Amino acid sequence: MEVTKLKECYVVTDILCDVCGESCKKDDDVFEYATLDQRWGYYSNKDGEYSKQHICESCTDKIMAFIESIRKK
Ligand SMILES: [Zn+2]
Repeated sequence: MEVTKLKECYVVTDILCDVCGESCKKDDDVFEYATLDQRWGYYSNKDGEYSKQHICESCTDKIMAFIESIRKK
């Protein structure tokens, strides 16, 4: 026999783009986004820093175009 109790918890209701602020929600519980994780270690100038950005599809396209434009040919 299982003994249960009601337990409240936080759930993700939306994800906002860290660039433009727009919602990445496409449908109930469906989110479309890219992430940029930064984890810096001892040999960097940012030792111990960590951050994670959520980026919507539109901003991801712009960022990828920028990366492509500066990529060494
Ligand atoms: Zn965006």
